[in-house]
Amino acid sequence: MMISAEAFKKAYKEMDTLDFSKAASVLEIIKEVREKGDEAIKAFSLKFDKVEVNELLVPRSELEKAWSELDEKLKEALELSKRNIEKYQKSIMWKQMEKSELYQKVHALRRVGIYVPGGKASYPSTVLMTAVLARVAGVEEIIVVTPPQKDGINRATLAACYISGVDRVYQTGGAQAVAALAYGTETIPRVDKIVGPGNQYVALAKKLVYGDVGIDSIAGPSEIVIVADHTANKEWVALDILAQAEHDEMARTFLISSDEKVLSSIEEELKKQKLLQPRLKVIEESLENNHYAILTSGKDESIEIVNLIAGEHVSIQTADAEDYVEKVRTAGAIFIGEYSPEAIGDYSAGPSHVLPTSGNARFASGLSVNDFLRTNSVISLSRETFMECAAAAVAIANEESLAAHRDSVSIRMGERA
Ligand code: NAD
Repeated sequence: MMISAEAFKKAYKEMDTLDFSKAASVLEIIKEVREKGDEAIKAFSLKFDKVEVNELLVPRSELEKAWSELDEKLKEALELSKRNIEKYQKSIMWKQMEKSELYQKVHALRRVGIYVPGGKASYPSTVLMTAVLARVAGVEEIIVVTPPQKDGINRATLAACYISGVDRVYQTGGAQAVAALAYGTETIPRVDKIVGPGNQYVALAKKLVYGDVGIDSIAGPSEIVIVADHTANKEWVALDILAQAEHDEMARTFLISSDEKVLSSIEEELKKQKLLQPRLKVIEESLENNHYAILTSGKDESIEIVNLIAGEHVSIQTADAEDYVEKVRTAGAIFIGEYSPEAIGDYSAGPSHVLPTSGNARFASGLSVNDFLRTNSVISLSRETFMECAAAAVAIANEESLAAHRDSVSIRMGERA
């Protein structure tokens, strides 16, 4: 749908991430798992996944076997992606500060749980884009949960777990898997933090258990915002839009340009290109309901719209792309130029593809190695530094009527009455 920037600004609403009408049933699932543990998990697998699960733990030998039997080309692809992910994450990892009177210590989390979706499709790439980060951070124990499948867990997913250094894989999905990681069962150990994308049930469960366990973010449907000008390759941009639309019917795509001809030629290209895609049905529904071609008055308004949407992926395919990097403040990840298509970021560039959706880029960042770290401050003062801040502490303690606070400071100042 072609729309003017003015009309778009009035009409635009952030997408509701969650369908709260499902919250009561998700809470019930969580309660059942807390009360009945493994028995509840197996019952929910039968109910929702239609799979009878005898052993929740996938034997380690299956991970090794999946890797050794994997197609050589795919092996190389996963290895290259892993190397790029490691390299990038090491470069952005929080560094331990030198000791001083005031400093911060960085610690890796002890045990994390990764939700790898598996209801409608399999995502070995999601294993890499989460587990490798945890490994780089130095997490001691990495646990993956993923929905059971009638013919066993997807081989490439298991192989990706193997090379990413995952310690254990449990076949359970949905809200029950999140509850198991949050509270523990006879078989599945409680973790310190749960990360990874999933459907509405997974997202609602993560929201409900947050506080009892750490959570990365609440993921909604995927989205891309593309800014194009007359220099953009229309066919390439059209395919970038389709790559997003094929994710699911709810996926959102925004094409922005100040050049009407550019918008209409890319829209024409979309109509042609989509017919060549095997996931045409999903694509058509996504484009029909969630695609916008937005005509702006120029660069400033294009940037305003990009920041308003705060999209998961922002792709800039214009001659002056670098200008946008400076001015786009709200985006999950920014892809600059025609050789940085989003799909390369999904699989192999290096930064994680687990990114904030539904406008969450206003306050959240993409998953990184630092999500698997935590810090604590260290305060180790000399008498001299203590004396510099002591009078202020006494004054504030008096204002707060906390006499013991005041006295614990003033006694060290040699001033206690
Ligand atoms: P999923 O693993 O998230 O969910 C499957 C589980 O949902 C099942 O195991 C079942 O337990 C539960 N479930 C299904 N119906 C239920 C019901 N009626 N009541 C209670 N529980 C029920 O797999 P999915 O459904 O394929 O969804 C995966 C999502 O993750 C997609 O939206 C996909 O786009 C997204 N994803 C995002 C990224 C990213 O990086 N942002 C990466 C990969 C996948």
